[in-house]
Amino acid sequence: MLNVKDLRAGYGAINILWDISFQVAEGEIVAILGSNGAGKTTMVRAVTGMVRPSAGVVQFNGEDLAKKSSRYILDQGIVQVPEGRQIFTEMTVLENLEMGAFNKETRAAFQENLRTAYQRFPRLEERAKQAAGTLSGGEQQMLAVARALIGMPKLLILDEPSLGLAPNIVDDILQVAADMARRDRISVLLVEQDITKALACADRGYVIENGRIALEGTAAALSANEHVKKAYLGI
Ligand code: ATP
Repeated sequence: MLNVKDLRAGYGAINILWDISFQVAEGEIVAILGSNGAGKTTMVRAVTGMVRPSAGVVQFNGEDLAKKSSRYILDQGIVQVPEGRQIFTEMTVLENLEMGAFNKETRAAFQENLRTAYQRFPRLEERAKQAAGTLSGGEQQMLAVARALIGMPKLLILDEPSLGLAPNIVDDILQVAADMARRDRISVLLVEQDITKALACADRGYVIENGRIALEGTAAALSANEHVKKAYLGI
C-alpha cells in the first residue's frame, strides 16, 4: 500500500531525512519510533505533501505521490491526525467532525461515518453541541481521531497521540486504531515517543535516529532488541 523508498527531505538547505525506506501494508499497524528531533514529524510531512522530498519515492497503491500536493494526497486517502490535535476550540464537537468531510465522497457518507465515529467514541456524541475547547485533553484527542475517520482514510497517520495524555486514555485511542486496522483493513502509521505503548499495538516498527532508519523489525523483535531496550525502554 505505502512504499517509501530512499526518501530525503528537510527544510531549505538543511537536510533532515537521509534515504529513508519503509513500507505499510493494508490493515497493518506500523510504528515509527524515535526520540525528540529524530525526524519523525518531518517524515510524516514528507508523506502528506507538507514538506517536498528532495529525493526518493512515496508510492501509495502504485502511484508516486512525492511531487503531489497535500490536497491530492488527502484525496487518495492518506489522512493525518496531527501532533497537538489541532482541533477548532471555538467550534462545537459536531462542527469539528463536519470539518473532517473534506470532499464530495466524504460529505456524501458523512451521516453514516458520523454514526460509526460516535459508536467508537460515545463521549463525543454526548458532547456533540459543546465547544471543543471545553473537552478534556483525552476527549480532544478522540475528537481528532474521529475527525480523521470522517475523512475515510485508507492510511491513517497518528502523530504522537500519547502526548500529554493519561496512560489509560492512550490505551483507549490505540485500541480504536488497532480495531480499525483489524476490522476495516485501514493501515495505520503510528508515530510515537512512547515506545512501549507503540510496540504493544503495532505489527512492525522502524526506529529513526538522526534522520536515518537505525533499526526495523516486528514489534516483538524490536521489544527484545538490546539497543531498543537500553536506549528507549530503560531496561
Ligand atoms: P518531535 O518528537 O520533537 O516532534 P521529531 O522526531 O518529530 O521530534 P522533527 O520534528 O521531524 O523530529 O525534527 C527533526 C529536525 O528538523 C529537528 O532538528 C528540528 O529542529 C528540525 N525542524 C523541524 N521542523 C523544522 C522547520 N519547520 N524548519 C527547520 N527545521 C525544522
